[in-house]
Amino acid sequence: MTPPVASPIASGVTRMPCDGQWAAEPGLGVYLHIPFCKHRCHYCDFNTYEGLDALHDAYVDALIRTIEAAPSDRPAGSVFFGGGTPTLLGSDRLSRILEAVRTHIGVDEGAEVTVEANPETVDARYFHALAQAGVSRVSIGVQSLAPHVLAGLGRTHPAARALEAIAEAQSVGGLEVNADLIYGSPWERPQDWGRTLEGVVALDVDHVSAYALTIEESTPLATLVRTGRVADVDPDTQADRHAVAEEILGAAGYVRYEVSNWSRPGRASTHNVCYWSAGDYLGLGAGAHGHLDGRRYWNLRLPRDFIAAAEAGDVEAGSEIVDDRASEALMLGLRLSTGIDMRAFERRFGSESISQRADVIEELMTRGLLIRDDERLWVAPEATLLGDEVARALI
Ligand code: SF4
Repeated sequence: MTPPVASPIASGVTRMPCDGQWAAEPGLGVYLHIPFCKHRCHYCDFNTYEGLDALHDAYVDALIRTIEAAPSDRPAGSVFFGGGTPTLLGSDRLSRILEAVRTHIGVDEGAEVTVEANPETVDARYFHALAQAGVSRVSIGVQSLAPHVLAGLGRTHPAARALEAIAEAQSVGGLEVNADLIYGSPWERPQDWGRTLEGVVALDVDHVSAYALTIEESTPLATLVRTGRVADVDPDTQADRHAVAEEILGAAGYVRYEVSNWSRPGRASTHNVCYWSAGDYLGLGAGAHGHLDGRRYWNLRLPRDFIAAAEAGDVEAGSEIVDDRASEALMLGLRLSTGIDMRAFERRFGSESISQRADVIEELMTRGLLIRDDERLWVAPEATLLGDEVARALI
C-alpha cells in the first residue's frame, strides 16, 4: 500500500495520493448535498434554492439524523460536500456535519474531504476553520475570469474575488484547491477562455475541473436561448475550447485523468474516481443519489420535505436495482483517461463482462476510437469527446 502523503495541514489531516486510475476496489464515497444558494445562476438546474436561510439549522439537524441512520459497516474513503453552496452554511455547521460522519459512518485515515465553495461566501479564516475540522480539499466555483462571461452566466462575484479566494485557501497550509470552470458559453471569446486557464494556472491550483456549458431545460438561460435573445452553445466551439484546455493545462504540467478533469500528478480527486470506478457511495441530503451494492436510491428533493421526512426516519423518494452493473461500470470507467483494468474489471463484474464485447471492442479499435493493451482498455485521446458514443456501442 502506498504510504499517506504527510500534509502540513493544521489539523494534522493526511491525504492519500490519487493518480486518477480506475480503482478495482474503490473506497466508499459519502456525498452530502447542501441545497442552498445566495442567488440562482442563470444556467443552473441543480437541486438548490435561494432565500431559505431560515431553514439552515433545521436542515443540518435533519442531515445529521440521516447520517446517524446511515450504514456504518465500512468507513468512508472520501467525503464530498456539494450543492448548492455548502459554504453558505458557515464553517461551524459544516464541522458539525463532518463530525457526525466521522462518528456514525467512520472516515478512513487520510480520506479526501472536499467542500465546494462559492468565492463570495469564504475568506482565509473560513478556510482555516474548514482545515481545522478535517477538510483536505476545497473546490472553488471560479467558472470564468472574464467579467462579461460571469455576468452572462448570472454569477454575482467579480473575477478578482475568485482569484482571491483561491489564494486564501492556499494560505492555509495543506488545503488542496480545485478551480471549477465552465467553457463554451455564448459570451465567451477564445481569448477569455485562454486567460481564464492561464489565471488559475498562474496560481498553481492542484486541480482543474472544466465542463462545457449545457443549456438545461427550465433554466432562465434556456428561455433566453429559446426566444433567440442568446445564442445556443456550439459543440464545435466547445470541442476547440476543450483542446485549448488540454494544451494550456498540459503545458503547465497538469494531467487530464478524466474527460473534464485535470490535476497535478497524484492530486486527482479520490471521490470523483470512486464514481468513475463504479464504486459505492452514500447520498445524503435533499435530492442526493446514492448507490450501494447494486441498489441505486434517491432522496426527496425539496428541503422542507426532506426535513419533515428525516424526522419520521425515511427520506428516500425512490430506488431501483441496477441490473447491468458491468455496462454502467464500463460507461463510467471509460471516462478515465487510462480507462479500465480489464482483469480487475472481469473479477468484479464477471468473466464475460469483457469477452462478450470482444467483437464491438475490435470494431471500435479499428475505427481508432478505443485502444487496448494486455491490461487496459481506454478511449483513444483523439476520441475523448466521443466517449459517450463509444460507451453506447459497448453496452
Ligand atoms: S452557485 Fe452553483 S449551485 Fe448555486 S445556483 Fe450557481 S451554479 Fe447553481
